[in-house]
Amino acid sequence: MILCANPRAQYLAHKQAIDLAIAQVLEKGIYIKGEQCSAFEREFAAFLGVSHGVGVANGTDALRIALSAAGVNPGDEVITVSHTAVATVSAIEQAGAVPVFVDIDPVYFVLDVSLVERALSPRTKAVVAVHLYGQPVDLAPLKALCDRKGLILIEDCAQAHAAEYAGKKVGSLGHVSAFSFYPTKNLGAIGDGGFVATSDKAIAERALLLREYGWAERYISAIAGGNSRLDELQAAILRVKLPHLERDTELRRGIAAQYRASLAGLPLTLPQERAGSRHAYHLFVLRAQDRSAVLEQLKRHDIQGAIHYPAPVHLQPAYKGRIRGSDALTHTEAVAQNIVSLPMYPELAKHELDQVVAALRS
Ligand SMILES: *Cc1c(COP(=O)(O)O)cnc(C)c1O
Repeated sequence: MILCANPRAQYLAHKQAIDLAIAQVLEKGIYIKGEQCSAFEREFAAFLGVSHGVGVANGTDALRIALSAAGVNPGDEVITVSHTAVATVSAIEQAGAVPVFVDIDPVYFVLDVSLVERALSPRTKAVVAVHLYGQPVDLAPLKALCDRKGLILIEDCAQAHAAEYAGKKVGSLGHVSAFSFYPTKNLGAIGDGGFVATSDKAIAERALLLREYGWAERYISAIAGGNSRLDELQAAILRVKLPHLERDTELRRGIAAQYRASLAGLPLTLPQERAGSRHAYHLFVLRAQDRSAVLEQLKRHDIQGAIHYPAPVHLQPAYKGRIRGSDALTHTEAVAQNIVSLPMYPELAKHELDQVVAALRS
């Protein structure tokens, strides 16, 4: 079986170093808030080109904490897309804010920045730009709009570790950004993990308080907070993998280039890269007129295809009929009908890629 994502292959690729890192944490006996977490915070912040990083328990928490730390308050409206992992919208509502949807661009599958201005209301406080599949949102015009309107720009980078926009890592361009280290993500833990990145000292300080009971000093809560810590085992594993992230991203990009070359001429719409951006290919998502035929053909050849995502958030039972902007999501609804994700992970071998291509070509 050729899997769509394969976190075990990544573990095996770094098995010795990961096993050693785990053993060292176990022996040391400090399992929460030790040197692994703070070292990883410094290292990943430096990788992104931001001055502060806060390790948290998962990507959804990272987004919720980023929103609150940046000053998004209960009742504030936050503009984002419905074509995303439900976690984006879940985090906005957990922060007490009100999501408002705008449509995606049909070529790049991410937020259509030209639609944001007409979705603004007097209650709009922030925009969450989701770099879905590893494809950067067109941040320059979005940042200009946010600056002009006094809005907070938050990047959801859960699928976009090492993606770049105008030569900078995504996650370093907005006021604050959120990452997930869910095992299948481009930088994946062996369990849950998340990260808040910012170059704004005040946002970083509030994020630190929010991740642990609002403690400014131990046992004394300065503000009301919760618990969302990144544990030492996950931080140690992430520190083993981080030095390989650039190379892994190049491997993903190489696989994407091979898919693009080998699938040309088939009745499929292949993903495109925006000029000036570096797509990180968390997923390789194409559009097929006859999606069920494509999925059936992959299955027949023992290849796992997937759909990210089968239903836009605004059509899911928990959200249907209650989110402003949902009546004009033409492209969002259209892509959900015919997208397919092909196997994509750095360890995917050439002969496996050839099998995927052959299955589709036949
Ligand atoms: C995975 C993901 C999240 C949430 O991350 P978790 O670690 O699973 O909580 C948020 N946004 C997007 C776009 C994601 O893909």
